[in-house]
Amino acid sequence: MKTLYIVIPMFNEEEVIDETTKRLRIKVNDLIKKKIISKDSKVMYVNDGSKDKTWEKIMQINKEDKLFTGISLSRNKGHQNALVAGLLTARNYADVVISMDADLQDDINAIDEMLEKYHNGCDIVYGVRSARKKDTFFKKVTAEGFYKFMKLMGVDIVYNHADYRLTSKRVLDEFSNFKEVNLFLRGIFPLIGFKTDVVYYERAERFAGTSKYPLKKMLNFAWDGITSFSVKPLRFICVLGFLILFISIIIMIYAFIRKVTGNNVEGWTFITISIWFLGGLQMLSLGIVGEYIGKVYNETKQRPRYIIEDNLLETKI
Ligand code: UDP
Ligand code: MG
Repeated sequence: MKTLYIVIPMFNEEEVIDETTKRLRIKVNDLIKKKIISKDSKVMYVNDGSKDKTWEKIMQINKEDKLFTGISLSRNKGHQNALVAGLLTARNYADVVISMDADLQDDINAIDEMLEKYHNGCDIVYGVRSARKKDTFFKKVTAEGFYKFMKLMGVDIVYNHADYRLTSKRVLDEFSNFKEVNLFLRGIFPLIGFKTDVVYYERAERFAGTSKYPLKKMLNFAWDGITSFSVKPLRFICVLGFLILFISIIIMIYAFIRKVTGNNVEGWTFITISIWFLGGLQMLSLGIVGEYIGKVYNETKQRPRYIIEDNLLETKI
């Protein structure tokens, strides 16, 4: 039987933690009773430098019930870093890990289906939001716009999937080789590969507390996602440079015709041509420098070049 760890980052979630604990206790005990997961399975809370009583509560819960455990970061490092801390710690104890948010907006009943897919050979199962009936109009539009924009920018992400996901231990082992500091987890896991599947669920409302992702953090997150995964913005500069150079040729012809027809102010031809041509040349040069910076940036990440899924050679003893 496989050991499951559920990893949950928490930042100032004292209002939420008791209810979350109650619901997960029922869920996980039920899975253990049905012999779907081993009785060593646990829920692991990651305290992300909370300023309230979250960590005290986690310690208390752990004292009362060993089904719950926790780690605490030295300070607030943000959702993605807290998640990585949890995932990489949990892989030392678990065969399979599920990550989710503290407010249980992600339906915990999807866990059964995720585990079923895992037992059928999937290494990653993405939780995908099928409906956002409970989200505000603004959240829905910004969130869905975000996924579309990312796709446009060439980032391979699963539409409407956040960080509710099942990963096997071997995926987490491979994941630990991605050393990048600018983290955008939902962009990294599709890069790892292996057999994957999705599970659909309806996203619920936050039952207590307020969102820890205000608009500013969301925009930062989106920007991080694009700049950590795509060199397209750099390529745009190159394309723009070419475009302006092309326009400058048209302007040259136009200015020349005006000069020849005498329909002209003294010096206008020279200035106009100079502005357009130099502008285009500078933009193109910037784009070329950008291309090299893009290469350097990809090299510095030192991402694994490939991941071997199966190897038919006999293992050496
Ligand atoms: N979170 C965190 N560190 C932060 C911000 C958020 O660990 O700096 C956690 C938070 O406690 C929650 C999860 O990230 O478990 C998602 O946050 P939230 O539910 O507020 O985001 P939303 O659902 O509004 O996008
Ligand atoms: Mg939430």
